Order: sequence, then structure tokens, then C-alpha cells
Amino acid sequence: MNIIPLPAFRDNYIWLIHDGQRAAVVDPGDAEPVLAYLAQHGLELAAILITHHHADHVGGLKRLLEHRRIPVFGPRKENIEYVTHPLVEGDSIAIPGLELELQVLEVPAHTAGHIAYFAPGILFCGDTLFSAGCGRLFEGTAEQLQAALSRFAALDGDTEVYCTHEYTLSNLAFARAAEPHNPERDRYLAHCEALRAASEPTLPTTIAQERQINPFMRTSEPGVIEAVTHQTGRRPATALACLTALRAWKDVF
Ligand code: ZN
Ligand code: FE
Repeated sequence: MNIIPLPAFRDNYIWLIHDGQRAAVVDPGDAEPVLAYLAQHGLELAAILITHHHADHVGGLKRLLEHRRIPVFGPRKENIEYVTHPLVEGDSIAIPGLELELQVLEVPAHTAGHIAYFAPGILFCGDTLFSAGCGRLFEGTAEQLQAALSRFAALDGDTEVYCTHEYTLSNLAFARAAEPHNPERDRYLAHCEALRAASEPTLPTTIAQERQINPFMRTSEPGVIEAVTHQTGRRPATALACLTALRAWKDVF
């Protein structure tokens, strides 16, 4: 199975999964890059997966469905036009014609009904988790974000994480403020800077990598607690308080 990033807009990736014949796409905010890739590689689009309702994730649906009758998977708890298969926690889906079965995780936080798709070794997390960061809390709470990030953190370290935005370098700038001393993060930053300088994506990342460098997954680390204390003037009493303060800090960073 090949998983290809199709850049869209300023910093989105539409992930295209294919086996050389059939393809599925995750969060096609724009139809153009998808149609171009399908045509160029002689692939047939077999399914569409949606994680949440934001326009940069669903904007290409109408055009992609103009001449196709294919399943569109998406969260039941969000009202998304064109979704044919509304999904809830615990559902599993098979992509027609592709040897891929995915499990549905409900991870509300960025939006109220946000879902992620998981198969052993692969996670499509939408805008819930980014490399070195996480999605803004538009509709959900810090408690929900904590629950989502804990679920992700508990996955196998080798799990490849397919985030939908190239935010890694700006997230790493914040990560440096939120945890000044982290040699693994410094090494990762140099690696990601080299990738971006060569116009390469920094994604997918892995769960093991994120556990080591993502401050939002490190809210019990003394260095993160120290930085939050210094920034806000009060010591967070719990990991949740630390996460809440980190997210608010990042919003204005
Ligand atoms: Zn979003
Ligand atoms: Fe987005």
C-alpha cells in the first residue's frame, strides 16, 4: 500500500492511499490535486474518508463526486454533505477494492465530532494531532483533547501518523519555548528543517517520535511544567491544567 501526500492550499496534505490501481483519499479539501494525481497515475478513486467538517477537509467533495458513485466515510456527529457512511467509535470500515481495513476512533476536541482512522501501523488523525503540536480547540474542551492525545500516545510507537497540515516547523518553535531542554527535539528540528529546505514533507511522523518531542504529549515532564509555570506565573497542579495552559499559550504564540 502506498500513501502519498498531495499538497493543497498553503499547508494542507490530502493523503492518497493506493495499490497501483485503486485509491482512497483522506480529507480532500480541494479536488484538483486529487484529480491530477489520479489521471497522472491511472488510478481509480474508490472511496473518500473525512475526519471533520472544516472546509479545507471537505471542499473537494462535490467535484470529486460529480462522475462517481463511491462511499464517502465521515463522522456521524457532524453534519457533512455528501457523507454516505456516517461513522461512530468502534466502527470499522473496509475500503472497497483496497486491502485496507480501518477502525474509527472518536476524538472530539478540534471539532465536536472529529474522528480518526486507525489500522495497525497507520493513523489518519486529521487536525487532532500535528507533529510537535495539536489542533486548536474550536468546539471541544481541553479534557477531550487530553483524552484524544492519551489514546494516540498509547498506540504502538511505530505507528505512522498522517496529519493533515504541514505545521511542524512552527510547532517546533513553540515546542522549544514550552520545553527549552530537549536534545531529541533539537535533533528532530534539524532533521525537519533539512526536509523543508528540500521542499519535502516532514510527515508522516510516528507516535514514538511525538512522545519524545510533542509538548502536548509531555504535560507531566518537569521541563514543560517549569516553562508553563514561568509563562503563566502559576504552577499547573495537574497534567490537564498543564495541557490547558499550553494550548492557550500556543494560541497566542
Ligand atoms: Zn480543521
Ligand atoms: Fe484543517
